[in-house]
Amino acid sequence: MFNKDAWEAISSQCEKNGASLCAVTKTRSLEEILALYATGQRVMGENRVQDLMDKKDQLPSDIEWHLIGHLQRNKVKYIAPFIRCIHGVDSLRLLQMINKEAEKNDRIIDYLIQFHIAEEDSKYGVQTDKANSFIQEVLHENFTHVRLRGLMGMASFVDNNEQVKNEFKKLKTIFDYYKENYFAEDVYFDTLSMGMSGDYALALTMGSTMVRVGSKLFG
Ligand SMILES: *Cc1c(COP(=O)(O)O)cnc(C)c1O
Repeated sequence: MFNKDAWEAISSQCEKNGASLCAVTKTRSLEEILALYATGQRVMGENRVQDLMDKKDQLPSDIEWHLIGHLQRNKVKYIAPFIRCIHGVDSLRLLQMINKEAEKNDRIIDYLIQFHIAEEDSKYGVQTDKANSFIQEVLHENFTHVRLRGLMGMASFVDNNEQVKNEFKKLKTIFDYYKENYFAEDVYFDTLSMGMSGDYALALTMGSTMVRVGSKLFG
């Protein structure tokens, strides 16, 4: 069930920190999402293309959908007509596909580069020591139909606050470095997407500008 008190608390915490809330609606029913929508929340995130496609047409068209999970190249075409922002870009080939499909739809699609900051093994996210070569490659392509809005990362799922804090700090440092040295004049490079139900408060203190919170808003 949608928890309005939790939504109000998290929203106001975000606002105090100049951050925004991407409400994660994965696994939630249409009813739950409509209750969330009734608050005025418009930025919503799903992590699977199929689930997003199943829900989207049954929900109001002014929802700004973010794809927060891993995205396969062969699925980009389904979401390209409407997706607002793709958080999990971690390969040039994926980005080339997004650019191509965005062009077909005569759209500009926002995206974030996902970095692998957790200690846990994961196939997803650019390794932090590859940041430079990856960003150089992206810049070299001169994409016309995608717009880099910033970076995204997921911290380890551990109770160790110090570790999570260090992981957020690592991403914030990379973000600041690129903002200062490459995107100082680019008003669109403004998003640092980090923090989920378990660690969003910490993420906000570490400079997050967008938290992706799901379970804490429901039940
Ligand atoms: C599920 C998910 C979230 C939200 O997780 P909660 O713990 O439910 O808040 C955030 N980001 C990504 C990438 C997710 O897959």
